[in-house]
Amino acid sequence: MDKSDIYTQVAEMEEQLGRLYREVKILKQHVVALLEENKSLSLENQNLRDMMANKEQENQKKEENGQRNHVVGEGYDNLARLYYEGFHICHVHYGSLRTEGDCLFCLSFLNK
Ligand SMILES: [Zn+2]
Repeated sequence: MDKSDIYTQVAEMEEQLGRLYREVKILKQHVVALLEENKSLSLENQNLRDMMANKEQENQKKEENGQRNHVVGEGYDNLARLYYEGFHICHVHYGSLRTEGDCLFCLSFLNK
């Protein structure tokens, strides 16, 4: 193997490594995006589960006591909490993450 062959081979390897490096960088960005999506989905999931559990409790209480007003107040608190944790409670986007600050639909719903 003469010297120029070795040089060409090393240059090719260098180029391959460069390509590989760029591919790893892109993959890393995808992983970050997936991790973020996963986080927001599991948050949303947890919040929806909490809400369902609360609703179930409320329904049980409602049946047991017939104290309708009390239960409505609690339901409102849960929705308000969900909203301030960053989720939509309006009919338009219910349960999805609020990514652009306050939502007028949600706020008008809360102010009812
Ligand atoms: Zn909303």
